[in-house]
This record gives sequence, structure tokens and C-alpha cells, in this order.
Amino acid sequence: MTLSLLQRWKLDNSYQQLPEIFFAKQSPTSVAQPELVLFNDSLADYLELSKGTMSDEEIAHLLSGNQLPNNFQPISQAYAGHQFGHFTMLGDGRAILLGEHVMTTGKRLDIQLKGAGPTIYSRSGDGRATLGPMLREYIISEAMHGLQIPTTRSLAVVASGELVYREQPLPGAILIRVAASHLRVGTIQYAANWGTVEQLQQLVDYAIWRHDSHLLELAKPARYGAFLEAVMERQCRLVAQWQLVGFIHGVMNTDNMTISGETIDYGPCAFMDTYFPDTVFSSIDSHGRYAYKNQPNITLWNVTRLAEAMLPLLAEQEEAAIGKAEAILQQFPARFHIHWESGMFKKLGLTEVTDHTKRLLSDLLQWMEESKADFTNTFRLLTISRNSEVNLHEQLATNNIDQWIKVMIDYHIWTKADAATLDLAQSFQLWQQWYMHWHKQLLAQANNQAAASYDTMKQVNPAIIARNHLVEQLLAQATENQDASVLDSFITQLQQPFAYNEEQISFAALPHTCSKPYSTYCGT
Ligand code: AMP
Ligand code: MG
Ligand code: MG
Repeated sequence: MTLSLLQRWKLDNSYQQLPEIFFAKQSPTSVAQPELVLFNDSLADYLELSKGTMSDEEIAHLLSGNQLPNNFQPISQAYAGHQFGHFTMLGDGRAILLGEHVMTTGKRLDIQLKGAGPTIYSRSGDGRATLGPMLREYIISEAMHGLQIPTTRSLAVVASGELVYREQPLPGAILIRVAASHLRVGTIQYAANWGTVEQLQQLVDYAIWRHDSHLLELAKPARYGAFLEAVMERQCRLVAQWQLVGFIHGVMNTDNMTISGETIDYGPCAFMDTYFPDTVFSSIDSHGRYAYKNQPNITLWNVTRLAEAMLPLLAEQEEAAIGKAEAILQQFPARFHIHWESGMFKKLGLTEVTDHTKRLLSDLLQWMEESKADFTNTFRLLTISRNSEVNLHEQLATNNIDQWIKVMIDYHIWTKADAATLDLAQSFQLWQQWYMHWHKQLLAQANNQAAASYDTMKQVNPAIIARNHLVEQLLAQATENQDASVLDSFITQLQQPFAYNEEQISFAALPHTCSKPYSTYCGT
């Protein structure tokens, strides 16, 4: 007999061995009429938590928090954080950690209910979440996972059957979030500011146990320097991956930066359409602090706050600790650059790092910016041009500008309306020169094996991203009818962005110029 999800679900609570300042016991507040809107079967299978004999109704009651098993010990976690540069106490104001799910492999993952009711950290908030933003988090976190970018994941969205009051009454929902842990830079900042050094050390040792257990072999204080470096390396890699797919997080506050290196907190995030490094989506980011081009620097700024919080652990003398922190932090720019550049080289199928190939990369980015080209679709077009699906080479060799413009519009580099605003003759000339150089370089390096660059490029250049105008359009339909089935094929395609299949083409279209730029709102 198949055991139901519930019968197999034994949660551990290692976090609760930490001192009590780090959490508060908190049960979810029950909701009127829970209904399962989305359930992530493939994630459930991976977690060894597939539905089994449970009905959707039973799952909804369980995952809304309405009917938790008696042996569960849910909590909300304390943390602080720099929000837009200002340090403040925060904590799970609307999230409740059910516990840690331990898989048969020993892998340990947090299971959290977001929007499960007020906690002692709620301040004036209602502890609730609305359906649209929870579906949005589900879609974008799945898209990030499909792109092979570390991220928290979404097991399910349950509608609460209650209204939540924002500017207007909206349907409420709970998101079931799965994470390597919910430890944040802000959790360590909280310990540094409101705990004793001993408590700080207990927390950091716990974080090391969760994410870098091999470092526990190191003596103190060496292990703490190594841990800081490990967190920095993960964040460095992560932000490079964001840059490579044009992902803009939108609220890179220190409470929204994990120790695990997973992307967390899908509020006002979005993928960039046109390549424009100053792009900001978030309506609350009026100064562009978290603009696309600033993300690497902000990551370093946040890791620097982590280093500050950890100073008492890095060395006995403050001066020595600062020296240690600085020695680690100063590696950030070079390390980021390596991740970013090697990723960009893959996107272009380039294998040799030379002044010439570096120039190829910077020239392309400059062309994209000046020609207001779509970031994802430009790389997609370059990728398929290696597989002779579209023969750019011939058009360029024969100077066929009209044909070229048609290709650029057909492959959604621009809309027709965008093209009308450009100096197309100049754009064509620059592209032509660039493409010929690139093509020559690929032939030279691949011993004329064009297929090699196609395969490399296809593995890293997504054929589909979660474009904001599409996400918003589908969410409007899904929330209006409380029926998420309109999202199904979009999510399926986002989960396999490198498939380059027919269906993905229908999701490649750009927003109309008149509706740009998009503004996103903090997930409420
Ligand atoms: P965020 O901007 O999503 O990182 O959230 C910042 C802080 O606000 C966190 O401490 C959240 O728990 C809290 N918060 C956000 N929305 C609510 C809400 N509706 N009720 C209570 N707390 C909230
Ligand atoms: Mg947050
Ligand atoms: Mg949020």
C-alpha cells in the first residue's frame, strides 16, 4: 500500500536546538476554505513526498496549516536586515517554518508556509499573502530552477478562501516554500546585534553544519574565515548567474540574501527584456539601488555586512579580524568577473580568452544596448544561427539589410514599433562587422566544427524566460477565476528552458513598446 504524504512526513527541528532568541513557537492560523491551486508533482517526487493516497482536499488542509500532525513543532524565525541600506529588526512576519524534511539521502530541507498568519514578528502586518504574488513566486522560482540557478522552490500554492485587504480586497493564499535553509545574512546580523558572542558563534556553527559541514573539521577561528569565504563564493556565483540570464531580484536587502546561496524572496523581481543595464523593475526602488548593473556591487555590500557581523569570530583582536575580513572581501571583484566572463563566453560559444574575444563580448553588449535589443532573444538567435536554422551569415555576406531586419523582428530582437525608432542602417553595419568577426573566431577555434559551439550555447542560452508581461497576463487570468490551469504549459516550458522546442516560440514575443517599462510591486 502506498503511504500518504502525511504518513511519511516526519519533520526534524534541529534549528530549535539554538538559543530561544532565534525563534518563537508559532502555529499557523487556520483559514476558512483551503483549496489546492498548484502542486509541484516533480518536486514532491524528488522530496519523496508525492501525494500517494491523499486527496487534493486533504493536501490543502495539511499544507494550509489547518490540520498539522500533533508532532509538528512549527516556529517563526528571528532575523534582522539592511533594507535599502537601513538596518532594522525583522523576522518571519508571515512565514512559519514547519520543520526540516530529511530525505533518505540525508539531505535536509526547510519546509515553510508563507502567508500562514501573524507571528510575534508581524509588526502591523496581517501575516497573510495574496494569491497573485504567491503564484508569481511559484512560477519564477520554478523558472530559476529550470535555468539551473540555485533557488528556493515551491511545493504548492493553496488558496485560503479568505480575502486579504491590500489597496483592495484580494484572494488570500499560502505558498509552501522549500529551501536548503532559511538562514539569511540578516539572521547572522540579528545574532551579532541582539545576541551574545556565544550565541553568534552557536548560530554560525549551526549554519556551517547546515551548509559547509566539512569546515567543522577546521579549528576556530580558521573555520569562520573559511565559512565567510564559502558564503561569498556562493553569492558571487549566484549573482553572476542572475546577470547571465538578465534576472533582476529587485530587493537585495540583507534579509533576502541566503547563506545557502539560493535565490530567495520573489517579490518585485523580473527578467529584463531589452538589454539596458540601468533596468529597475521594482516600484519601491526609486533610486535604482537594485538595478541590474548594480547587483554585483550590492552583493559585495551585503557580504561585507555579513563579514562585519562575524568580526568577533574571525580573530580575537578586532584589528586582526578586520584584516582577515578585508583579505577575503577584496577577492570578490576578481572572482565575480571570472564567473561572469566565463559564463558570457559560453553564451557566445567562445573557448579562448584573448583580447580579441573579450572585445567580441564587449562589442556585442554595446551593440545590444545601443540597438535596444532583447537580451534573451539575441543570444537565442545567435545560438540557432549555429545550427543553420536561420542563415544569418549569408544575409550579412550579401548585405541584405531588409532580410536582416525581418529576421530581427521575426526572432523578437525588437518589435516592429521598436525597430521604427532605431537607426537601422547603422545598427546593421555594426552587427554585420561583429557577426563576421564572431563567426570567424568560432570557425578558427572549433576546427570548423560548428556543432560544438551550438551545443555549448544551447546549454546556457534559454529559449524561454518568464517575461513579465506574460507572467502578469497569465496571473490576471489565473487569479480572476482562481484557476491556475492556464499557467500549466507556461510553467512546463519554463522548467525546460534549454529544450528549444516549438512551443517555446509562442512565449518569446516581446511586450508592446507602449506598455513598457513594467513596474513590479513587492510580493504582497
Ligand atoms: P520582504 O520585503 O518580503 O523581504 O519582507 C520584509 C519583512 O516584512 C519580513 O520580515 C516579512 O516577514 C514582513 N512582512 C511582509 N509582509 C507581511 C505581512 N503581510 N504581514 C506581516 N509581515 C509581513
Ligand atoms: Mg524577505
Ligand atoms: Mg518578500
